[in-house]
Amino acid sequence: MKISAIELYHVSVPLKHTFWPTWIPGYPQTHNGFTLIKITTDDGIEGYSAGAALGVERQGLGDLIGGYLIGADPTDIEGIQSLLKQAGFLGWRNFWIEPACWDIIGKSLGKPVYEILGGNARPIPVYCSTGEMHEPEQRVDELLAMKERGFKEAKLRVKNIELKDDIRHIEAVRKGMGDDFGLGVDANQGWLVTIVDKIPAWDLKRAIEFAKACHANDIGWIEEPLDSRDYDGNAALKAVSGVKISGAELNYGWDEIKIMFEKDCFDIYQPDATFAGGIAQVMKVIEACRANKRDFSPHTWTNGIGFYIGWNMMLSDKENNRSLEYPLEEPSWVPEFREGIIEPIIPDKNAMLQPFTRPGLGFEIDRKLLRKYGKRFFKITETRLKLKVIRQKGLKAALDLKKRKESR
Ligand SMILES: [Mg+2]
Repeated sequence: MKISAIELYHVSVPLKHTFWPTWIPGYPQTHNGFTLIKITTDDGIEGYSAGAALGVERQGLGDLIGGYLIGADPTDIEGIQSLLKQAGFLGWRNFWIEPACWDIIGKSLGKPVYEILGGNARPIPVYCSTGEMHEPEQRVDELLAMKERGFKEAKLRVKNIELKDDIRHIEAVRKGMGDDFGLGVDANQGWLVTIVDKIPAWDLKRAIEFAKACHANDIGWIEEPLDSRDYDGNAALKAVSGVKISGAELNYGWDEIKIMFEKDCFDIYQPDATFAGGIAQVMKVIEACRANKRDFSPHTWTNGIGFYIGWNMMLSDKENNRSLEYPLEEPSWVPEFREGIIEPIIPDKNAMLQPFTRPGLGFEIDRKLLRKYGKRFFKITETRLKLKVIRQKGLKAALDLKKRKESR
């Protein structure tokens, strides 16, 4: 099988209400933006994936990856991983493209990707992953409403300037929710973005103090309490914390995450395949979790397509009994706008997601919605690539290149 065409779309879904992500303090998010890739094979199979985007920053990406991926075998994941790595040496992070090849593999075999990865169709619980900082009293009201809707667990965010306010937040929410509701908390210190507000970065001392307060308030886990590449700091915190420590959502694939296992940074590993190495490298993390008795729980806060990819990873891990992150912050970050160009993903009244059985990654692009929110900005085929090379390098050099590539 060969990749015969690549198309790229800027997708921008306007939110009905502005969303204020704690990971970019002070930034009003008005759109759900991502780059959509559509890869078509010579036998007509289409694979899709999406990479989170703020705007049109990937405008020139097609020019680069076209030359790498056209003609490649999408079922040779090792080869694809290698080509994407090579295409990233000059600065692009291309891991999000790899799942599109798994989509093709699944569709060609008529099986969901999680099944190919050794998983099975089973209902899985989801937790309500909030995305904003609200006053604790307001948060309690919101989570009580979620509890009514079947959620048994939620994740809070803390992003105050002072530690005492972060502690006040978790204390008040725990008190308001009672003991029979699971709570995790995300400090979002792993990859600080300070383009608007300058919130100070945590140090180990603050993280340890916060962990003590979390322990006293029966918090299930603390996510990204320190910089995601501060391996020694995370390991030192884990060693003394009474609460599980988690992270690795955006780390640079297995190359970085294997160091975390060596240093024993986390109790829970949360790589997102669209950022942290694609599906193949996240599978390595899942295997390492099994071997080292650590938990796996993928980050899914991107968009509906990213959620499906994380969902596949969770389903592939048969024995995993954690709940899956379900991004939800009403009224702004809600299924309709989070999914954008695919059907909204809705848990049942017990906050369980019933498994999908559609071949591939499991979602179907709604062409009408793609037309509405998406704009195709790049398309390359074998013929177009050939013409481009001839135009740039001349006919003789183009024929020469072709010969050399084919003789590999
Ligand atoms: Mg997180």
